Amino acid sequence: MPHKTDIKSLNYNELVQYVESINEKKFRAAQLYSWMHEKLAESYDEMTNISDKLKDTLKEDTLYTSLKIVKMQESRIDGTRKYLFELYDGNLIESVFMKYHHGNSVCISSQVGCKMGCRFCATLNGCVRNLSPSEMLDQIYRISRDTNERVSNVVIMGSGEPMDNYDNVIKFIELLNSERGLNISQRNITVSTCGIVPKIKELADLKLQITLAISLHAPNDELRKTMMPIANKYSIAEIMDACRYYLDKTGRRISFEYSLVKGVNDTKECANELIELVKGLNCHINLIPVNPIKERDYEQSEKNSIKNFKDMLERKGINATVRREMGRDIDGACGQLRQNHIDENSAI
Ligand code: SAH
Repeated sequence: MPHKTDIKSLNYNELVQYVESINEKKFRAAQLYSWMHEKLAESYDEMTNISDKLKDTLKEDTLYTSLKIVKMQESRIDGTRKYLFELYDGNLIESVFMKYHHGNSVCISSQVGCKMGCRFCATLNGCVRNLSPSEMLDQIYRISRDTNERVSNVVIMGSGEPMDNYDNVIKFIELLNSERGLNISQRNITVSTCGIVPKIKELADLKLQITLAISLHAPNDELRKTMMPIANKYSIAEIMDACRYYLDKTGRRISFEYSLVKGVNDTKECANELIELVKGLNCHINLIPVNPIKERDYEQSEKNSIKNFKDMLERKGINATVRREMGRDIDGACGQLRQNHIDENSAI
C-alpha cells in the first residue's frame, strides 16, 4: 500500500481514531463506516451526508479500495459467476459467486498468486503480493452489489494461501463479522489452508468460530510430497496434532479437503490409510474430483472410484461428501483460478 491510510481496512475503533486525527467529530466515523461496510459504497462520491470539504480531505489522505470488475463470466450450467477484478496497482485477482440452497457463497482470493505450488492447482506463478483486508472485503462487496443478492457464506479458498497472509486474513474476518458491517457469522466463514502448522495453532488460540479446512489430499507424507511441496516442511502427523489442538480450543469440527486424482490417491489403500488417520477425530471429509488444468497431467477419478472411496469412509462412520462442481464451464471450479485471464476467450 502507498503511504495513504487504507480506510476500508480500519475497524470501527481505528476509524474513530483516524477521524479524530483529522479533527472531525466522532459521529463521522459511524457515517463513514456504514457507507463503506453496510451500504457498500464504491466511492466517497456516493456518501450524501458527508460534506464536500471532508470528501476532499479523505480523497487526498486515504486509499479507498474499490475493485474494478474487468470481466464477469456466468456458468450456463449452474449460474455460478466468476469475477476478474483489477486492484489499485493493476494486479488482477479472481473470485467466485455460487448459489446454494442454504444461501449464496463467495469464494475469495487472499493473495495475488500463491507461492505454495501445489501440483494440481492453476495458481502457478508464485506470490506477487498479499491482499489487504479491504481488498478481501471488497471482493464480496462488489459481488454483492453486482448480483443484488445477500451473501451469507464466505470461503477463503481462491488464489493464495491465507495462512501466509495471516494478519490481514484475521483482520478481514473481524471486519466481515462486524455488526456494523455485513455481519456474516463466523460459522459461515471457512478458511482453507495447505497446512501451515504454527499458524493453525495461532488461529486456534483466537478461539474463533470459523471453520478450518485443511487441504490434505493424501493419507501419507510420501504421496503428499509428490502433490504438495509444503509437505516437505510439515508432516501429516504435525498437521493432525495442530488439528486436534484447534478442535480442543474451538470445539469446531475440522474439514479435510481431499482432491481425488485418478490412480494417484483414489485407491482402496489410500481410503484405508485415510480412515486410520482421522479415526476418532471430529471431522468432515470433503472429496473434490480433481479439476484438470492444462499444465498438468492429473486426471479426474472415475465416478465409480469416487463413489467407492466415499462409501468406504462412510462405512467406518466418517462423514464424507463429494463437493459439487460449480462453474466448471467458466474455469471457476477449485484450483482453476489464475492471474491472467484478460486475453482469454470467454462465453460472455
Ligand atoms: N491455499 C489454500 C486455499 C486455496 S485452494 C489451500 O491450500 O487450502 C482451495 C482448495 O481447492 C484446496 O483444498 C486446494 O487443494 C483445492 N484445489 C486446488 N486445485 C484443485 C484442482 N485442480 N482440483 C480440485 N481441487 C483443487
